[in-house]
Amino acid sequence: MNDCLFCKIIDGEIPSKKVYENDFVYAFEDVDPQAPVHVLVVPKEHISGHDALKATDGELLKELHMAIQEIAKEQNLDNGYRVVINQGEEGGQTVNHLHFHLLGGKSLGWPPC
Ligand code: 5GP
Ligand code: ZN
Repeated sequence: MNDCLFCKIIDGEIPSKKVYENDFVYAFEDVDPQAPVHVLVVPKEHISGHDALKATDGELLKELHMAIQEIAKEQNLDNGYRVVINQGEEGGQTVNHLHFHLLGGKSLGWPPC
């Protein structure tokens, strides 16, 4: 049985505020937004995180990045945005399904820690 939270969101088993979907990608609002725009962009296929990506995932990565561009345009992030992947415990990963955080809508601070 797949106990993955984001797989359940993709399947509609757990509700989410969808902002984008195609055959490969699902994107939805983060439940605890860290910026005026905070969207999670995930592959529909279960991949546990950045470390689990394979060299053969190039097409999927293209889809994810093109989706991020499109969502950024739809969300009027013309002045810029940030894309973040948290990998593993020290990277701050809490959900083990690969996801890109798309953040924007204000001037974002740096460094992030
Ligand atoms: P991570 O910490 O793994 O990089 O990011 C996980 C993100 O998922 C967090 O920003 C958290 O707020 C978000 N999140 C956790 N549970 C849910 C949920 O049930 N629904 C939505 N929309 N976001 C969630
Ligand atoms: Zn999953």
